[in-house]
Amino acid sequence: MDPSKKSADLAERLTAFMAEHIYPNERRYFLETERLGPWAIYPVVEELKPLARAEGLWNLFLPVKEDPNGLSNVDYAPLCEIMGRSILAPEIFNCSAPDTGNMETILRYGSETQKEKWLKPLLAGEIRSAFAMTEPEAASSDARNIGSSIIRDGDDYIVNGRKWYTTNATSPACKIIIFMGKSDPDGEDPYRRQSMILIPRDAPGVKVIRALPVMGFYGTPDRAAEVLFENVRVPASNMLLGEGCGFEIAQGRLGPGRIHHCMRLIGLSERILERMCRRAELRAPFGRPLAEQSVTLERIAESRIMIDQARLLTMNAAHMMDTVGNKAARREIAMIKVAAPRMAQQVIDWAIQMFGGGGTNNDHFLPAAFAMARLLRLADGPDEVHRNQIGKLEIRRHRQTNADNTGSAGDVLPLDEAARMSNQGLWPRPADFQE
Ligand SMILES: Cc1cc2nc3c(=O)[nH]c(=O)nc-3n(C[C@H](O)[C@H](O)[C@H](O)COP(=O)(O)OP(=O)(O)OC[C@H]3O[C@@H](n4cnc5c(N)ncnc54)[C@H](O)[C@@H]3O)c2cc1C
Repeated sequence: MDPSKKSADLAERLTAFMAEHIYPNERRYFLETERLGPWAIYPVVEELKPLARAEGLWNLFLPVKEDPNGLSNVDYAPLCEIMGRSILAPEIFNCSAPDTGNMETILRYGSETQKEKWLKPLLAGEIRSAFAMTEPEAASSDARNIGSSIIRDGDDYIVNGRKWYTTNATSPACKIIIFMGKSDPDGEDPYRRQSMILIPRDAPGVKVIRALPVMGFYGTPDRAAEVLFENVRVPASNMLLGEGCGFEIAQGRLGPGRIHHCMRLIGLSERILERMCRRAELRAPFGRPLAEQSVTLERIAESRIMIDQARLLTMNAAHMMDTVGNKAARREIAMIKVAAPRMAQQVIDWAIQMFGGGGTNNDHFLPAAFAMARLLRLADGPDEVHRNQIGKLEIRRHRQTNADNTGSAGDVLPLDEAARMSNQGLWPRPADFQE
């Protein structure tokens, strides 16, 4: 499961780039996002992207299964972790969500024309993209509930719907939206009613209604938005894969996206733990460094344990995805999608406590990091949905196996066997309990 030499070399270069260009610019980044807001392009991002591209630290997320120059999940994991150490970093390397998921979707399911028109500029970092699935009026964690419509009209489709939490839609660089809606609302199979279609953000009828703050933050860690699609007309050739393939694409898209989130959260948590350790030796309330307080040692130790657990689970999921495929690895992907954000949220919460009042402003980027971990317990599927899936898969697995040959736990001891054992004196009798 060890990463290759190629991955190790990239990790070294990435670490050097982070030290030279990313960490020194983080404060500027937070100030720009706060001052310029969610509708702006941030100058620091535009300055740093060409540097990363020139160094060949670009599009590292591309999967080797789709691109001969790409990386396996095991090779990408340590790199994604390094980028995750800073909320600023992933976009600089053209490796940020939801663009990576959208690029992978077009790469895997798009036509040659769609690739030429949208994938090329996305891979070049010239434009950004959004993914519009969730709706305010539907319980969207069950995507079957999504009510937006994609209706064929001659050589076009007409799209109507209200979406929200459409990350990136406020960015002026966002030029293309992958939209999920119903093309066959009354179809017999509920998993074939949905389709995905490409909608240019500047198509007539697309209105970005408002930017949504995420736990009070605009711009970073997420540019969420509410978007209205009113009689939007797009050519039929904008359909991805084919009518009715929405669920199939969603499954293919969300697996890699989820593991990337987890890898980044591990990097973020690791960096925050490093800061906690340094802080613990520097601050000494009531005459004793925090590092000597047992509560601090407990929290640092628990953080270490939890981060390493999450990393091992994530590497295991990455290995499974590489070797048996995303579908067979769905249990492992669901497990890390629950474990990593929960771990990160706890580690960051302990850090905020240790940093005192200063832990609540972005001098140490802890509130933005907390918002990131917290939102990832919802985005790409809430914890409960993943746990439901893990539980169902686990029950199914044990339905099929009987490794110790003792029958299933639901079996009742047959009456004749119970009586036979009783006759043989195998059960204790009243006399056995008398003094
Ligand atoms: C910051 C942020 C960014 C996002 N970015 C995007 C994006 O770019 N594109 C996009 O389409 N969506 C995006 N989302 C939306 C996200 O994917 C949805 O919020 C999520 O899927 C839940 O859907 P919902 O909000 O409709 O909640 P609902 O479906 O209404 O569910 C509400 C709650 O019910 C509970 N629940 C759900 N199912 C079960 C169950 N089976 N058992 C027990 N409890 C359950 C969970 O606690 C859940 O949080 C983003 C969300 C956030 C917060």
